[in-house]
Amino acid sequence: MQEVQGIYPFLEQKREIVITTHQKPDGDAMGSSLALFHFLNALGHHVTVISPTNWANFLDWMPGCDKVIDFEKNREPAKDTINKADIIFCLDFNIMHRTKNMEQLLLDAQCIKVLIDHHQQPQEEAFSYGISDVAKSSTCEMVYDFIMQSAHADKLNLDMAACIYTGLMTDTGSFRFPSTTASVHRAVAHLKDLGLDHCAVHDNIYDHLSEGRLRFIGNALLNRLEVLYEYNTALMVIPKRDLIRYEIKTGDTEGLVNFLLTIEGMKLGALLIDRDEERKWSFRSKGDFDVNIFARTYFEGGGHKNAAGGRSSESLENNVRKFKTVLEKYENQLQ
Ligand code: 5GP
Ligand code: MN
Repeated sequence: MQEVQGIYPFLEQKREIVITTHQKPDGDAMGSSLALFHFLNALGHHVTVISPTNWANFLDWMPGCDKVIDFEKNREPAKDTINKADIIFCLDFNIMHRTKNMEQLLLDAQCIKVLIDHHQQPQEEAFSYGISDVAKSSTCEMVYDFIMQSAHADKLNLDMAACIYTGLMTDTGSFRFPSTTASVHRAVAHLKDLGLDHCAVHDNIYDHLSEGRLRFIGNALLNRLEVLYEYNTALMVIPKRDLIRYEIKTGDTEGLVNFLLTIEGMKLGALLIDRDEERKWSFRSKGDFDVNIFARTYFEGGGHKNAAGGRSSESLENNVRKFKTVLEKYENQLQ
């Protein structure tokens, strides 16, 4: 993989460009993809954003979101677009299997592939150009840098600003995680100078809950939480019947895992959800406990040091049993 700057000369001519991201895109995935979409459009390219799957409703307000193709719903047009692309940008993931059913198509594509991402251990051989920086708060911050370092920083507009701010805000836990550097705040200041309405972004993302979603959170906190004080660990396990009862849709469980570390003294938060196709883990930690390694080692996952995810095809019960057994090895580290 060569430096991402190597792609700038290719962008001086009109290109067919595809932007894609990880399955079930979150605020950073959608924000970075759409910010780049608006930027490359402004340069005159023909750009298509393809998401491997659907996404949460609370992202629908984002400028350009209505033009994003859901691969699962529109496979054939998406395949054609990928096969015709000169350049494919891969944002907010670094290993092709995070694009689910698009994996093989992306691996087979003969065009230039560009990575912009902040997760650990990138599949470097899959990309021609790119940047992978785990110190970055978000892929949105990296897309901001990509725009600012190009010869066309003057194209940065309010649509791009709203998209970039979304990922900066969501991936930093509203500017509280350690990844919230001075550069993040400087980028936000710049977006504010452009006229960004940050209140609208917060409102769109966080204050559009359905009543069912709020009650689902209440039920989870009351009935699905187990605190393992000997390991400073909070575990929450959501059975499928809860998802049905409260009509929980894609994205409605986002943020739930963050409640776990709000209990005093907790170092590890683990959320397990019984999804249709798999059991999905979310891990969060404070301090030195590395959940990226933990998720990679035991739950087919990965992510960052303090925020990672994983999966399993085993039952909820077997997952909980495995988790508790594995935890015994970390008793000292978690104390
Ligand atoms: P979340 O718990 O919010 O779904 O994910 C937390 C972080 O871990 C995100 O940065 C996400 O990209 C990453 N992550 C979540 N699930 C997986 C997974 O199954 N595999 C890998 N490699 N990373 C994941
Ligand atoms: Mn991200």
